[in-house]
Amino acid sequence: MSENVAMTTTQNGSVQGGSIQSRSLTNLLLLGRGQDLESERGVSCTGELPEASDPDLVSRAKIARAALGDRALVLGHHYQRDEVIAFADITGDSFKLAQAAAAQSQAEYIIFCGVHFMAESADILTSANQKVILPDLAAGCSMADMATANQVQECWSQLSSLGVADKTIPVTYMNSSAAIKSFTGEHGGTICTSSNAKKTMEWALSKGEKILFLPDQHLGRNTAVLSLGLSLSDCVLWNPWKPMGGLTPDQIRAAKVILWRGHCSVHGRFTVDAVNEVRNRLPGVKVLVHPECQHEVVSIADVVGSTEAIIRTVEESPAGSKWAIGTELNLVSRLAKAHPDKEIVFLDKTVCYCSTMNRIDLPHLVWAMESLVAGHEVNQIRVAPDIARYSKLALEQMLAL
Ligand code: SF4
Repeated sequence: MSENVAMTTTQNGSVQGGSIQSRSLTNLLLLGRGQDLESERGVSCTGELPEASDPDLVSRAKIARAALGDRALVLGHHYQRDEVIAFADITGDSFKLAQAAAAQSQAEYIIFCGVHFMAESADILTSANQKVILPDLAAGCSMADMATANQVQECWSQLSSLGVADKTIPVTYMNSSAAIKSFTGEHGGTICTSSNAKKTMEWALSKGEKILFLPDQHLGRNTAVLSLGLSLSDCVLWNPWKPMGGLTPDQIRAAKVILWRGHCSVHGRFTVDAVNEVRNRLPGVKVLVHPECQHEVVSIADVVGSTEAIIRTVEESPAGSKWAIGTELNLVSRLAKAHPDKEIVFLDKTVCYCSTMNRIDLPHLVWAMESLVAGHEVNQIRVAPDIARYSKLALEQMLAL
């Protein structure tokens, strides 16, 4: 039996839930809105959502997890809270978790403790009889929502009118909606992650003259300049809110990389001042940042790497080493706890969790698992078949590189 809202990504990139259809709002605003247009998104759950203060919450989670047994696989992204990670069968970044979902053909339910675009990728990569569950439908991603399907189609039309679309290969970051991945597959492009961005951009430039890089301008710029040896002036920024992206035809024709104006609201906040401050405060510290950070920050960091690379770098570093890490705080805190022989600090002085990742908490996980145990399938993420087909093509192109 299926209860609550099954969220489906459709051809125009809208997310449909029950009778609710996309209007002019972004996908994030629609997530989890259920039947009530005025309600706060994502807070409605059928039945009782346990109180966070429930003293039996952990034991309820253990009982529900045991009852589901091999019927469920719980995936936990590195940015999830400790209370959720404690119940994850596999932890990883978005790429590793997508691979884990694809490799697991037994589990009936993939309970995805991450954000919406990751659950979509899991649905695309799993078999038709497996169901992907997102414990809180409000767990979106601000970066993914910065490129809607209609905006990207409009951009492509404008590139076509200039005669450059057929020389342009889309490269889309994993952190994007299924609709954008589908656009990418349909136009001969590929998906990339923060660990294979260099390889995918090199591939794209061997196939065409330009890249349209979606939706994270920072990953695109950092890879183009620091890994491919292009210059900043080879890159232009497409602003989807301005006619022709806010660019002149000559700027577009001259560019090697057209960067979409999207960014991560967590990684985008680390600054050059924060790097200088921590170096003054902690002599000998090494600055380790994610490539979603701004170019100025990445350019002066000691080490740049994906989430998995950040973990590996810390694990392989000698006792006594000092690290200031520029990535999501749940992960940095966990690394600090796991490596008491090293000094690990958060690069920014102020606390910065990913607010949407944090929407998945133990009450939502317990609610989702107990609902499944009771035979109620809740918060299923389904990607429409036409979207899934081209998205899969783009994902498989990446895996083939
Ligand atoms: S950390 Fe940034 S990219 Fe990752 S889910 Fe949060 S907003 Fe999106």
